Amino acid sequence: MSLVEVTALHKQFGSAHVLKGIDLNVEKGQVVTIIGRSGSGKSTLLRTLNGLESIDSGSIDIDGERIDARHADLRRLRLKVGMVFQQYNLFPHLTAGENVMLAQAVVKKAPRAKAHACAEQMLQRVGLGDKFDAYPSQLSGGQQQRVAIARALAMEPSLLLCDEITSALDPELVGEVLGVVEQLASEGMTLIMVTHEMRFARRVSDTVVFMHQGRVWESGPAEQMFGSPQSIELQKFVQ
Ligand code: ADP
Ligand code: MG
Repeated sequence: MSLVEVTALHKQFGSAHVLKGIDLNVEKGQVVTIIGRSGSGKSTLLRTLNGLESIDSGSIDIDGERIDARHADLRRLRLKVGMVFQQYNLFPHLTAGENVMLAQAVVKKAPRAKAHACAEQMLQRVGLGDKFDAYPSQLSGGQQQRVAIARALAMEPSLLLCDEITSALDPELVGEVLGVVEQLASEGMTLIMVTHEMRFARRVSDTVVFMHQGRVWESGPAEQMFGSPQSIELQKFVQ
């Protein structure tokens, strides 16, 4: 069984039918990149995967947790699914380390010493071992986003979702954040990400999913998707 199984997933916002029957399987350790034009439903799909949006029909199975239109155990789901957003949303009055500790201390109810040790370790993992006591305002955007990644990792998720996590960054800061993602991928983290960094997507993705008008229009290995796109829509998109 795959780590993630999405079956016939539909989502509407009022009369707007935003996800029109999504099927998607992701194996443990796979890196899947979702590409597509603005408004095609990429963020909505990611948000359904960690319970930020309810679904109208279909089902989502993630590491033994099931979500369908009728029920979802959001607490258990969010213990398994980490998410990083375009806006890093760190608490400005807490240090980098305290921001990372919150996940363990509040959500996992870990003792303070354990949460502290874990936060140190996660900050090291994203190359910020020396920034535990720095406040967000003392960090660059790239460093703040790496703290946000560390915060997600502190939950020890089975799956990490990244939604355009470099889109708000100055160009010279994009590389350091993508470098962390690439390192996580090489360590075997299961990743589903939305990105506009096409060269990066081509290099690190096992599977690329092209969404168009609320549907998975085309999907396949990165080389095939970028090298020989089949549909006219994907051909136009990758040009
Ligand atoms: P993408 O991430 O691919 O740009 P989104 O998933 O953000 O696309 O949005 C898909 C469509 O759903 C858009 O038309 C958007 O306006 C609509 N949408 C997204 N969130 C909401 C919401 N909370 N309420 C109403 N419409 C929404
Ligand atoms: Mg989006």
